Amino acid sequence: VLGAPLWARWNSAEASVQQDVSATELKDDKGFKGHSMLAPFTAGWQTTDLHPLVIEKSEGCYLYDTNGKKYLDSLAGLWCTALGGNEHRLVDAATTQLKTLPFYHSFWNRTTKPSLDLAKELLEIFTASKMAKVFFTNSGSEANDTQVKLVWYYNNALGRPNKKKFIARSKAYHGSTLIAASLSGLTPLHQKFDLPAPFVLHTDCPHYWRYHLPGETEEEFSTRLANNLENLILKEGPETIAAFIAEPVMGAGGVIPPPATYFEKIQAVVKKYDILFIADEVICAFGRLGTMFGCDKYNIKPDLVSLAKALSSAYMPIGAVLVSPKVSDVIHSQSNELGNFSHGFTYSGHPVACAVALETVKIYKERNIIEQVKSLSPKFQDGIKAFSNSPIIGEIRGTGLISGTEFTDNKSPNESFPPEWGIGAYFGAECEKHGMLVRVSGDNIMMCPPFIITPDQLDELISIYGKALKATEERVQ
Ligand code: PLP
Repeated sequence: VLGAPLWARWNSAEASVQQDVSATELKDDKGFKGHSMLAPFTAGWQTTDLHPLVIEKSEGCYLYDTNGKKYLDSLAGLWCTALGGNEHRLVDAATTQLKTLPFYHSFWNRTTKPSLDLAKELLEIFTASKMAKVFFTNSGSEANDTQVKLVWYYNNALGRPNKKKFIARSKAYHGSTLIAASLSGLTPLHQKFDLPAPFVLHTDCPHYWRYHLPGETEEEFSTRLANNLENLILKEGPETIAAFIAEPVMGAGGVIPPPATYFEKIQAVVKKYDILFIADEVICAFGRLGTMFGCDKYNIKPDLVSLAKALSSAYMPIGAVLVSPKVSDVIHSQSNELGNFSHGFTYSGHPVACAVALETVKIYKERNIIEQVKSLSPKFQDGIKAFSNSPIIGEIRGTGLISGTEFTDNKSPNESFPPEWGIGAYFGAECEKHGMLVRVSGDNIMMCPPFIITPDQLDELISIYGKALKATEERVQ
């Protein structure tokens, strides 16, 4: 359908409004390598080297760069600042804790009150399955690395030294430490890093639009994926498979909600072979999908859960692992024999991070954040999905306050635009020009605004999305 203009490849920084902030550094004779920071996830780091967008201030759902330009933050930082940029109660919680006890650790039998209180609170609000213990980390990646150690320790304790393999899914994102990157199912996280680690296997990505067979219903697609999972387990030997890990809605892989009956069928397979189910709720938890946890929405009954991001609304780095009694009882008795469960981080249960997270959860409850997300969700989802008939959009998907747009030609999952056209990057740059920051990954656009976004701000988000889409369509035709 569409013409094929010869475009030079550009990245979002090159196509974006030039940032004065980098001017002096660009002029220096170090040229491309003018910045001293090694930025995460940038190609050759040139994005940051050329025109870094330096964010200086935040206010609610808005960010301001060093030139004073205002942006609507459609991604809540990196899927995390759920309460927006200036929630004073969180600042007060941090300040009070910093003044009282800025740090004490939680090793051995020593700990602090905020970490005990937060653990208790998390066990109370997670009701999808019974959880007994909470292990604190500093990030989602550390939470998922911790999952692997817990599961291995558990199976060693049970005298099952061969039951160690993990099954994750293609297009999953579980973090970027060695093990979390291995669990992730995104090629760039593996390439040139000698990953994934050999104990990690990947099964199908549950993306119905992209992968269903002609005439296959969502339910049939889910059955096929559950059968594929079972066949993989049988091929490897069920006695070698320890755990299955999944995000309730896949986030960084392109915002992919599960097809109908998917988790029901996958859980049945996993259970049949005594394989632990780990729910990676790092993005989905605390209301993002319109339920307190993604597990509530999809009736997932996990043995282990990973949390981070909205746990503290990103005001302090903190992650957590919820451990079911099935696992924690075994670990408990094993560590009594060995003397120690020798795993932990200096900052596991950092009192300031825990105090902030405790206040965050309190705010979610007090302000009934679930109802708030539920009431905003139709406006957000319908507003964006109204653009579905654009000739350059293959699919728009999402639920609650999370949305993904995939650009393809002819509405077909099999007709991607040539990567050198940089469609996604162009769209992202247009959003930026109009005062909104989105997440671009190839030709996928992702949005996940703060829970506190107002209906008027949602109108603004949808309007900027529309303008950027129009400009991108014009560029293509
Ligand atoms: N798990 C999921 C589902 C994520 O989306 C992320 C980060 O985006 C992680 C884990 C890793 O979290 P962190 O970046 O805090 O290590």
